[in-house]
This record gives sequence, structure tokens and C-alpha cells, in this order.
Amino acid sequence: MDKKRREFLKIAGISTLAGLGGTAVIDRLATGASPARARAAYEINSLSPAGQPKEKGPAKAAAKTSQRLGLVIDMRKFNANPGLAEKCIKTCDFLHNIPHFNNKKDEVKWVWLTGYENAFQEHSHYYRNETLEKNQVLLLCNQCDDPPCVRACPTKATFKAKNGIVAQDYHRCIGCRFCMAACPYGSRSFNWRDPRGGLDMKHINPEYPTRMRGVVEKCTMCVERVGIGKLPACVEATGDTKAMIFGDLNDANSEIRKFLKENYTIQRKPSLGTHPSVFYIV
Ligand code: SF4
Ligand code: SF4
Ligand code: SF4
Repeated sequence: MDKKRREFLKIAGISTLAGLGGTAVIDRLATGASPARARAAYEINSLSPAGQPKEKGPAKAAAKTSQRLGLVIDMRKFNANPGLAEKCIKTCDFLHNIPHFNNKKDEVKWVWLTGYENAFQEHSHYYRNETLEKNQVLLLCNQCDDPPCVRACPTKATFKAKNGIVAQDYHRCIGCRFCMAACPYGSRSFNWRDPRGGLDMKHINPEYPTRMRGVVEKCTMCVERVGIGKLPACVEATGDTKAMIFGDLNDANSEIRKFLKENYTIQRKPSLGTHPSVFYIV
């Protein structure tokens, strides 16, 4: 038994290996590492500020963090700027080397569009106005303040960083998919196939690691950019439209908090108690 496999069994336990992700995990370990530069950039920029989780075993309720980075998505602005949502999606897809396959089962999505009734299932759908009927809503990970995905993860591959972002360490992920079952928003995707097969490898972003078959991924609120003082790429892509407002929800003087004070916003599935950090104006 080689060293990597011994380490893996120690973390995951044999029962997990026999479960949902076993074969894929072994494939993942055998595939090897991502390009060193991309991996180093990702780890320095995203994981270091958060600190690597040290203990083993499932997390309890996520601790409160000093910062709580969040977003307001103003669909009125998106509706007024046709093509803007697609621009955000394309930007994220390119920057994060998100693969594309021609079937739904293998789909990997970090940010996507869906109908109002699907996005806001807890809200009334009767007599919707024409705007809500006609336009789609931009969805991504809600960066929940009490994230069930983090609680479900047996290896702490997904964890809440100090800035409140729910981050993902691809190298710790054993592909068990417990986090996918736990996320009530469908924000996580599993790499059923080698994601590199769904990319044009000549036109990838060398600064971000490609992933491997058998790992879960999702929007990480551009933790690698935010860690060096940049805006999330989708927010930057909206330019000065104010279609997305990003900031620290724990800071009463931040732009996002002022915006939330002055505008009526809604969240996805608020009754579940996950406390999403993404707010919407529809
Ligand atoms: S991130 Fe998800 S798939 Fe990966 S180890 Fe954690 S629970 Fe399992
Ligand atoms: S939306 Fe899903 S993946 Fe994102 S933090 Fe919440 S539970 Fe986790
Ligand atoms: S915050 Fe970053 S990772 Fe998340 S959808 Fe926007 S561009 Fe993608």
C-alpha cells in the first residue's frame, strides 16, 4: 500500500472508501497533482488566510467568523443589462477552468441561471409580474453562515474560512459527496469525468488549478482573489452597473450593509436556517 493511499485511508476510513466515492478517489490519487504554480498560487492566496483545518472528523456547527463576506445580487440591474449575467458566468468559467460537457449528468456549475420559481421555492409564485416570468435569476453558492456542507464533510475538504467564505480544498476531497446531499441549494458539482476532458487545455487559466475526476467543486466566492484584495471576478465583470455588491456583512459601515438597510432583499430558502450570505433584489 503506497503512502498516499495509507494517508487517505487514515483520513476517510474504510467505510467511506467502500461508499459513494471510492473508485473515483483512487483515480484521483493516481492522477497526480495540478500544475505546481497554479496549486501554489491557490494555496497561498486562498487557504493560508483561512488557515488549514487541523482536526479530523466531521465539523460541528461552523464557528462565527470576524468577517462575513457576502453579496447582494440586484436582478433589476441584470434585467436592465441583457447579457450581463452571461458575462459573469463566462468570466467565472474561464478564470476557474470550469469544464463543459454536452450532458446534464456531467455538468459542473459554479454560477448559473434558473427561473424564479426554482430559485425562490419558498416564495409565492402566483400572479408573477412579467419581469419575473421572463427573466432568469443568477445563482451561486450562498456562502452560508451556518453551512450544512461543512458539517457533513468528513475530511474538512470544505470549510469555513476566517473571512466567512466556504472554501474547498480539492486535495483533501475524497469524493464521498456527503456535502452535495447536505447542500439544499444544489450549489456543488461532482466531477464524474476527468474535468480536463471538458476544457480546451490550450486556453486554460494557468493561475488556477484544474481539478481531477472524483472531487467536488463549487463557487468559492473567488477566495483566491479576495485574499489579495481583489473583487470576486463576477462582481468585477458587472462594472459600474451595481448589479452585484460585495462586502463584509459584519461591518455595519460597509457598502453592502448600507445597501441592505435601504433596500428590501430576499434570500433563498431562509427557513432552513443556513443563513445565506447572498441576498437578492428581484
Ligand atoms: S468536500 Fe464533499 S465530497 Fe469532498 S470530502 Fe468533503 S463531503 Fe466528501
Ligand atoms: S450554498 Fe450549499 S455549498 Fe454553499 S455554503 Fe451553503 S450549503 Fe454549502
Ligand atoms: S464569486 Fe467568483 S467563484 Fe463565485 S461565481 Fe463569482 S466569479 Fe465565480
